[in-house]
Amino acid sequence: MLEHKVIIRRCNEYDPDLISKIVKEGMEELGVKPFGNILLKPNTVIAHPEIFPYAFTRKELLDGALDATKKTSENVKEISVGERCGITIPTRFCFKHAGYPEVIKKHKAKTYYFDEEKSVPVKLTKEGRLRDRVFIPKSVTQCDFLINLPKFKSHPWTRLTLSLKNFIGIQDDRHRLVDHNIHLEEKIADLQEVVQPKFIAIDGIIAGQKMMLTPEPFPLGAIIMGTNSCAVDTVCCHMVNVDPQDLKHLCLTSQRGFGPMNLDEIEVSGDYPLAEVQKKTKDFAFCMERIDDYFKDHKAISCTLGKFPEGRDYCWGGCPGALQEAMHIFKGFDPEVEDKMEKVRVVIGKVDKPLNLTKGEKVLFAGDCTSWEGEIQGRKVKIESNFKTKTEVNECKTKSNDMLKKNIGSFFKGLFLGKKPFIHAKGCTICVADHVHYLSFLGKIKNPNYDKRLVFGIAISYLRMIVSRFWNTIRS
Ligand code: SF4
Repeated sequence: MLEHKVIIRRCNEYDPDLISKIVKEGMEELGVKPFGNILLKPNTVIAHPEIFPYAFTRKELLDGALDATKKTSENVKEISVGERCGITIPTRFCFKHAGYPEVIKKHKAKTYYFDEEKSVPVKLTKEGRLRDRVFIPKSVTQCDFLINLPKFKSHPWTRLTLSLKNFIGIQDDRHRLVDHNIHLEEKIADLQEVVQPKFIAIDGIIAGQKMMLTPEPFPLGAIIMGTNSCAVDTVCCHMVNVDPQDLKHLCLTSQRGFGPMNLDEIEVSGDYPLAEVQKKTKDFAFCMERIDDYFKDHKAISCTLGKFPEGRDYCWGGCPGALQEAMHIFKGFDPEVEDKMEKVRVVIGKVDKPLNLTKGEKVLFAGDCTSWEGEIQGRKVKIESNFKTKTEVNECKTKSNDMLKKNIGSFFKGLFLGKKPFIHAKGCTICVADHVHYLSFLGKIKNPNYDKRLVFGIAISYLRMIVSRFWNTIRS
């Protein structure tokens, strides 16, 4: 008997009763009995049944997991569901469009929107950590039994998002973007020290390929369960023919003693043999490409990359991946967008050479690490870097990253663009929503941020979030 066990179960449909049965059997096989304050953490980085149908943990998986939890648990104080979706969108909006509120109500569980509650510092002590403390919502620090419910997806920043990466959603907006750059993989490893899940059930019924916000569906037909994030992520890597060594955050987390990443140390059980899964996923698609290669044949976007900070040869955790996600969102709204968009050059990093722009080509200088000096359309331009190293960034003094402030800032930047042939977008990271704003202004294409299926619902959720946050502040 090996210490770590991971179960791969067949499940081809989003049937809550079937999922409940599978999860309950998984809990029993693993000897799991949830207790005390039980918190279920799904992945709703973004959710909308029409626009982003494959990006999030489905409500049927949550429903089945809640049902199995209630049937298996003992000495329960509270059962809750908590998450912070992708920043710039209130979690309320994503929960609503994921269909969670009715499921949560059905099971009489509590909801924690992590963007509406107070975050508290948690001290880190593990050797190799990036920071000495991180800020985490109080409900996460107070839970006795965390159940992690990730979505099985590939990811342009980290190759795959599974159990470990799902922890990015336990931080609020003020703290989430700290180190969400060249240090993203180390940040994910840091977050594991705060709390480890005692049970994991991954929604791999329909997995996501390539992008994380607009993934292409892949009918994997599996629920993957375990009690250790490293072991579960290692098995999931093998399921899609990825060497676990290629997941840097998995290597870092395993090196810090949180679990194995060698298949010989993990017992793999269930009714879906790994070899059969591997055969099925031989064409599972990823997007782990530098943007200069990725956009080399694009009709409108081209990229000039310079030197990245701290001797890195690329920034996998920040602006480049956000640009890829943003362009996929445009394409999701309008498949012909590449033909309609005016030319935009995206410049990232310390660039010391001429940009050799074509006639009328505009420029997006993206991110705090970017610098360049030269002439654009006859006018002198000097872009200076204001990148801060990890020691210069104080995690106790962070920007709010409030949705309204961010949107107003990027809106006015675009509005007053006038004849100016460039935008200098400041921040580290420039998030996906900001990339969408800037590219729509520069490329003169319709801005999906203002799509009527999103904008009104987001505005209402934002107002409710502000009221609830205020109420939570005065109560605490
Ligand atoms: S500014 Fe952007 S590209 Fe540069 S280090 Fe920060 S996140 Fe990475």
